[in-house]
Amino acid sequence: MEALHIISGAKKRTSHDLLEKEANWPDLSLRRTFQQTTLLHKVIHNKCPTYLYQSLPPMQDHSNRAERKYKFNTPQFDHAYYKDSVIPSSISKWNDLPNHIRTIKKLDTFKYMLKKEYVETPNPLYHYGNRFNQMSHTRIRLKFSNLNFHLYNYNLIRSPNCEHCHLPETPNHYFFICTQYNVERNEMLQKIKRILHANNVKNRITLELLLHGSKKLSYHQNIFIFDAVHSFIRKSGRNP
Ligand SMILES: [Zn+2]
Repeated sequence: MEALHIISGAKKRTSHDLLEKEANWPDLSLRRTFQQTTLLHKVIHNKCPTYLYQSLPPMQDHSNRAERKYKFNTPQFDHAYYKDSVIPSSISKWNDLPNHIRTIKKLDTFKYMLKKEYVETPNPLYHYGNRFNQMSHTRIRLKFSNLNFHLYNYNLIRSPNCEHCHLPETPNHYFFICTQYNVERNEMLQKIKRILHANNVKNRITLELLLHGSKKLSYHQNIFIFDAVHSFIRKSGRNP
């Protein structure tokens, strides 16, 4: 987690959930699924002592039908042996794996496909731009920036309001409403409109678009959007 803070430039108390989402790190339950199903894979394919295999319930018949292949019978787990054991949960996770993954025999391929199935690659746009712009942009995305609304939510200041407009200085206020940045904003919106228009994409210019880019645009087209946002951040002088 420390590494995630350093890489993203996020502030110290930033929500771990948001940080993990930003980096697309698997959450705890997903990590457990990885560990448990990988262990079962090793047991099934004889990479572990046989007594481990023998402690598992029998498998369904070894028919060639993929939907039953390498699936365990779901046993009754009221036996004392299974009390506090991870076996029941491991087995149900294993049985729930998609057929095309459960039936992979090679461990490396199994792990690779498991990751591919469950973890999306992080959005490469989040790493675009120079450190200052990237950090400000990221902090706003992580809902803990220098904008008053965020500082207030973390009990660091008394009022969430913008010093000029006396309205909550939310990301939406900063990017779309605050009268202090009218000139910079117009410039940003014009640039983004041109990009959308040139690529024939009908996308409203929303906070979502400014923070995450658009799935309707390619990486390189999105970079123009991020450039426009970064330029707004820099010229606003607000140092969010
Ligand atoms: Zn304002």
